[in-house]
Amino acid sequence: MSTVSPKDSTADSHYDVIIIGAGLSGLSSAVRLGMFGLKVLLLEKHYIVGGLNSFYAKGGRKFDVGLHALTNFPSPSSGKSSPLFKLCRQLRIPLDSLALQEQTSSRITFGTTDLRFTNNFDFFISEIERVFPHEQERFHRLLSKMENFPAYSVDAEELSTRNILAEELNDPLLAEMLLCPTCYYGSARENDIDFPTFVMLFDAIFKQGLARPEKGIRALLDPLTSKLKELGVERKMNTPVKAVHAEEDRITKIELENGEYLTATHYISTCGGLETETLLQPPPQTKNFEIGRFSIIESISVFEGHPKAWGWDETVVFFNDSDSFSYNEPKELVDLHSGVICIPNNYGLPSLDQKQESKLRVTHPANYSLWSALNEESYAGQKKIWEGKILENGLRYLPTIKEKVAKFKSKTRMTDTFTPRTIKKFTSHENGALYGSPTKRRDGATSFQNLFLAGTDQGYVGIVGAMLGGIAVANNQILRNL
Ligand SMILES: Cc1cc2nc3c(=O)[nH]c(=O)nc-3n(C[C@H](O)[C@H](O)[C@H](O)COP(=O)(O)OP(=O)(O)OC[C@H]3O[C@@H](n4cnc5c(N)ncnc54)[C@H](O)[C@@H]3O)c2cc1C
Repeated sequence: MSTVSPKDSTADSHYDVIIIGAGLSGLSSAVRLGMFGLKVLLLEKHYIVGGLNSFYAKGGRKFDVGLHALTNFPSPSSGKSSPLFKLCRQLRIPLDSLALQEQTSSRITFGTTDLRFTNNFDFFISEIERVFPHEQERFHRLLSKMENFPAYSVDAEELSTRNILAEELNDPLLAEMLLCPTCYYGSARENDIDFPTFVMLFDAIFKQGLARPEKGIRALLDPLTSKLKELGVERKMNTPVKAVHAEEDRITKIELENGEYLTATHYISTCGGLETETLLQPPPQTKNFEIGRFSIIESISVFEGHPKAWGWDETVVFFNDSDSFSYNEPKELVDLHSGVICIPNNYGLPSLDQKQESKLRVTHPANYSLWSALNEESYAGQKKIWEGKILENGLRYLPTIKEKVAKFKSKTRMTDTFTPRTIKKFTSHENGALYGSPTKRRDGATSFQNLFLAGTDQGYVGIVGAMLGGIAVANNQILRNL
């Protein structure tokens, strides 16, 4: 693709492209379009970039909002075909600058059954063969089916993974254990995940693996914002979009909360399908996007010493207390039956400096409507109550003897918890839906010729997915047609 001259930039207030949302997809689209000389404006309602994957400081400490794991670790054998390598090349971010640290090992645990995995896929296969010897042949047939399925194509059929696993495997426990990590890392649909997303996440988590940039999410956000500056991409923070005005099949202007109107030749929205439809003026007669229902609560404990000193050397643990995995909006504030533990200090080589602090993150499904109905006082009270329950429950899934629980609590220097309300605040997703709507538009096209969706509701979720989605919309929907 060659550099092109910007179109339609004669008037100062007119842009080639206006992008709504400075999460990872919006930032990636903006950098890509800026690289080709387009006049781009990035609008963000918050004061900070990163959307769902950002950072903050509290109690003198730095926290990443989300970041459990960067999926798609580019092993030496995956080389230039690795999605992370490709996206770094498209954005001109040297892969080495991320200083990726690999996971130690992780685990899926259901009742008394454990499956461990590392960034060596052969090890995961050997674990499945050890724990489910009677499923060996069928599991290999499932792997071939996944390899032959066009999961990465924009028109891949959205089949039910539950149905496919029920057809392909005899042991329901293996099916449930494969669903757990893939749902938690990217399903917008309750109790299931569409097959193309399952295949992409299976590749991303098990075939390629988990890693973490040494400096956390800022290793991606800092170079992206520096590039926007270098490329002259305009960025307006604290600037919520109030409405997107349309005439027939085109968007004509954007209205900001501050009363300003802006125009562009193309528009990209990263705030979600349903949320974009809500911004439309006049409102559409029918809504095309189903509401997402799955949200989470996460509790973070900052504790003294390295996790190894507590006997914890794993990075991520996906847990479920029975043989059957339920992944849905709970009937109470939090569902403690299943969840995810992440120990970010267990990436890379451990430092045995006893004076250091470490973090333990525990995530569970949570109900947005119940959390949002609480007044401020009850909200703060419930957060405290659930913080304690979540920590105690999470410790059951780590090698922890009972006496250690009290000791761990006494060595905990601070805790912080975010709820579905926090997710709604930082993404504007209806219902605080972690992965947006179950309805996805992989090519980003909408019923308006000059409006495209990028990010979560394109169906490419997670950090790598959101960035690849943002790049794909910029390349395929805008740059290719100039
Ligand atoms: C707790 C948690 C942990 C996670 N952990 C991981 C992980 O470990 N690994 C991983 O790969 N993925 C993880 N994810 C998922 C990942 O963060 C997301 O899939 C990805 O960041 C989505 O990016 P996005 O750009 O599509 O959307 P978003 O991040 O939602 O960005 C959309 C942006 O649009 C802005 N916006 C919305 N409405 C408006 C408006 N009207 N006007 C202006 N701006 C607006 C929002 O403020 C936001 O900044 C996690 C998510 C959460 C919540």
